[in-house]
Amino acid sequence: MLLGSIEAGGTKFVCSVGTPELEIIKRVSFPTTTPSETLALVIDFFQQYAEELQAIGIGSFGPIDIHPASPTYGYITSTPKLAWKDFDFVGTMTEAMHVPIAWTTDVNAAAYGEYVKGHGQGLSSIVYYTIGTGVGGGAIRQGQFIEGFSHPEMGHIFVRQHPDDLFEGACPYHQNCLEGLAAGPAIEKRFGVKGQELPVDHLYWEIEAYYIAQCAYTATLQLSPERIIFGGGVMQQEHMVQRVRVIFKDLLNNYVRTPDLAQYIVTPALANNAGTVGCFALARDRVWEV
Ligand code: ADP
Ligand code: ZN
Repeated sequence: MLLGSIEAGGTKFVCSVGTPELEIIKRVSFPTTTPSETLALVIDFFQQYAEELQAIGIGSFGPIDIHPASPTYGYITSTPKLAWKDFDFVGTMTEAMHVPIAWTTDVNAAAYGEYVKGHGQGLSSIVYYTIGTGVGGGAIRQGQFIEGFSHPEMGHIFVRQHPDDLFEGACPYHQNCLEGLAAGPAIEKRFGVKGQELPVDHLYWEIEAYYIAQCAYTATLQLSPERIIFGGGVMQQEHMVQRVRVIFKDLLNNYVRTPDLAQYIVTPALANNAGTVGCFALARDRVWEV
């Protein structure tokens, strides 16, 4: 038995085939152009494994329709990437591959990967955030994603702006929401260089940590998860997670007693594989379901 994973991102699609033990056997990547072009490559890739492939998990950029009863279930809905707006992703894949398709957001998929095989293993509730090209979050409680009329959009919460940060924000919808202030492109817009080019002792990192700490603060008070995991490109700054813990402690001011912060606020165990492992695990759940 083999499982498929599609991490559908705004710049590239990463497609993988793996085992029921969630080990990656083969991984390829295609640029995100138009649905017909990109999915032709995706389908060709999975066709090679058609005989053994049992299910595919998709973690997609969005917003997406996740409601099974909705007539547009499985569609990418209101994305600014116009070629993909109102595109029937799950329908197209089902028609081509004839296997069950698990369907969720890119960040939920990564959250699930960490939940089943990373730093969420053995816990019953986690929140996972990515601080990358955008900011997104996924929350899991007892194996289920927390969602309602739609999936959460945790990256667009409002945060208090740091008094030394005069940046107007880069979110096209909300200007200075968390994503507008703290995602990679917001850093690049402030300084004209990417985050990875800023020295580790740059004063800005304390401001960045202030925003991420507020994100942890909100997650703590709203969801009381057992662990908060911060992934994504910006968290590759190795000093960041400790800065976040320190500011978080200060903001919380002992109001609630959290788990030990070194265990409570962490970076992912699976690094770049969280999304793939999560898609495999969601696909595997679909196989076990039937
Ligand atoms: P995506 O969100 O597109 O899946 P990433 O999580 O890798 O991809 O995020 C990419 C963003 O993270 C870019 O804006 C990039 O500049 C930023 N980034 C990548 N590495 C680092 C780093 N070491 N330090 C700070 N920012 C980084
Ligand atoms: Zn926003």
